[in-house]
Amino acid sequence: MQITRQSPITVLAGVGKVRAAAYERLGVRTLGDLIQHYPRAYENREDVRLLEDARIDGKSAVVLTVSSEPRAVRLRSHKSFLKFRAFDDSGVCEIVYFNQDYLKNQFPVGSVFRFFGKVDRVGKRYSMSSPVAEPWTPDAALPPLWAVYRMTEGLTPKQVAKDVTAAMSLLAANIEDDPLPTELREKRSLCTLAFAERNIHAPESWQSLAIARRRLVYDEFFRFALGAAMTRAETKRHGAPICADGSTDALSRLLPFPLTGAQKRAIADIRKDMASDIPMSRIIVGDVGCGKTVCAAAAMLIAVQNGRQAALMAPTEILARQHYADLSELFARLGIACELLIGATPAAQKRRIKAALSESDPQKRLPIVIGTHALLSDGVEFSAPGLVVTDEQHRFGARQRALLSEKNAHAHLLVMSATPIPRSLALVLYGDLDLSKIDEMPPGRQRVDTFVVDESYRERLNGFIERQVGDGGQVYVVCPAIEEQEIASDEVALFEIGETGARRDECPPLKAATEFAKTLAERFPDYQVGFLHGRMKSAEKERVMQSFSSGEMQIVVSTTVIEVGVNVPNACLMIVENAEHFGLSQLHQLRGRVGRGVRKSYCVLVTGGVGDVGERSRARLDTMRTTYDGYAIAEQDLLQRGPGDFLGSSASGSVRQSGGLSFRLADAGEDADILSLATTDARELLSSSPRLDEYPLLAARVNEMFEIDSGLIS
Ligand code: ADP
Ligand code: MG
Repeated sequence: MQITRQSPITVLAGVGKVRAAAYERLGVRTLGDLIQHYPRAYENREDVRLLEDARIDGKSAVVLTVSSEPRAVRLRSHKSFLKFRAFDDSGVCEIVYFNQDYLKNQFPVGSVFRFFGKVDRVGKRYSMSSPVAEPWTPDAALPPLWAVYRMTEGLTPKQVAKDVTAAMSLLAANIEDDPLPTELREKRSLCTLAFAERNIHAPESWQSLAIARRRLVYDEFFRFALGAAMTRAETKRHGAPICADGSTDALSRLLPFPLTGAQKRAIADIRKDMASDIPMSRIIVGDVGCGKTVCAAAAMLIAVQNGRQAALMAPTEILARQHYADLSELFARLGIACELLIGATPAAQKRRIKAALSESDPQKRLPIVIGTHALLSDGVEFSAPGLVVTDEQHRFGARQRALLSEKNAHAHLLVMSATPIPRSLALVLYGDLDLSKIDEMPPGRQRVDTFVVDESYRERLNGFIERQVGDGGQVYVVCPAIEEQEIASDEVALFEIGETGARRDECPPLKAATEFAKTLAERFPDYQVGFLHGRMKSAEKERVMQSFSSGEMQIVVSTTVIEVGVNVPNACLMIVENAEHFGLSQLHQLRGRVGRGVRKSYCVLVTGGVGDVGERSRARLDTMRTTYDGYAIAEQDLLQRGPGDFLGSSASGSVRQSGGLSFRLADAGEDADILSLATTDARELLSSSPRLDEYPLLAARVNEMFEIDSGLIS
């Protein structure tokens, strides 16, 4: 069998079902995936210290001479450990390996090793437990950097490193050309793909790591730019139905408020776009609460008045339900039918909705559907597609976006986003979408007073909750959602690549949301305290949200699932725990959940850090206290954290939504220079080879990035 990047990882020796299942959890299925499972950080083993100077808060490299014969000590229950002493100029260290008696002969007295690990000390006595050991001579060229991988249960760092190496040598035997045209590689002074992949995993030096990273980042941007441009060109070629008739006056009359000037302008833009047979590709950007939904409703109405169908797709079920609740009522009053299609919709009803959508008789056809990515699943066919609206599109993966444009090739596209996307990123995320900016809030909006506090305020904060709830208000408490595995990991990264936010090793332990909900329930026995998290069944989530929005429940503790969209005007206090784990834009969105009604509203950001760490996150979060402008906040965020929030990539760590990841290494903020080179090069290459026919390898890699993966669609 020919081994390619598409071969499953089970072709590797030692990778069986169990380990493959563990890799699957990391999104790694093929050899190519494994090679692109880039290290999340590197340990710096070059920084050799004396025992007495070893870091107290992390791992260190020390060079020690073995001074006692290793001794194996048997314990009951088949356990054992190996123990010996080694020294340097500053002291003596006891070294222990558990259950690894086979190492006994590896450490003869007088031999010298570079040990890497945590050095514990009690007074003047040092000890290390299971350090990494490498034989050392003054001029041995030991690798200075070691890769640290994102882990999951069932995998060890050693296995991953070994499997990556094995995958690379297997593929190296099947020599494949570099997909990047040589002229471009030379013009941009980039290294070869083979060099880049070898050095990103096992860097020969800091310099070769930087060179490797540059090439791989360029590749990601380049492929993305090619794919986005090709998709867009394809859409333009298709054409869309002309929707030139009708009026949105009936809609305006139904609304209990006059539209703002900005809303009217956005609707006028939409009307003009939809009157043409060139498909609309427009994004409405505006801060949380500015009233984008009404603009979407107007667009949907225009489509329906022209005999076409409209679909609205939201990134979460909760949000889809909320849109449905708001819009179906509005459309009902206009005499237009509208249905909800989400994963949780009962099968019989799904069938009925699908049939109604594909109905050719205009009288019987379902004109409007609202849902999640369930709308992208097989069997959902529109007989007269006119318009697709997506809410918070950047939360959908690149693959879902590709699928969306493929499925709706003949429809107009409208995107709504509350995330003010900085220019450089907009280019990457949306290609050449036209922009309508809603820069005006409906009148009478209040400012949500914001505070940044630490643990020492806990009791005062509880008192504050008491007062708000006692007064009839409701409270959101948001905790970061983090994989437990990540909390448990004691790996310490001394250098994190592409990561500008809080480093994991500095972060205090996270409060588990579950525990926290319990504590609050005990503290407030007279109130209803609910709990909501991402992995809950959607019926359960719905029950909790329902009981919160009806006012039956006063306090809801949740992970970020409430971040987008929900609307409970009576909620007046937003508390974010471990706020340092959130991007500023996310916090801004969370803050937008309160202050939607008449109650004076507050946002309290609680930091978990102590000392210096606490100070630094405080300073970052202070932006939230002083700034209420979503754009200014997004710019700050990009400067401080990188674009993880916008891209949904894993670049900036803890709080993540899953989905088809677009970028593994690239950081559109930090790597803005490479982004612009790659975009220019992509445009030039496409002008001479619009479908990349002359570059089959490159085309294959672009497809791989945009490939439609049915695993993502439920
Ligand atoms: P977002 O832009 O965050 O999606 P929504 O469309 O959900 O905001 O609107 C937020 C709230 O503001 C809704 O309750 C909506 O009814 C209300 N709203 C929208 N436009 C106006 C307006 N022109 N005047 C007053 N209230 C408005
Ligand atoms: Mg909205």
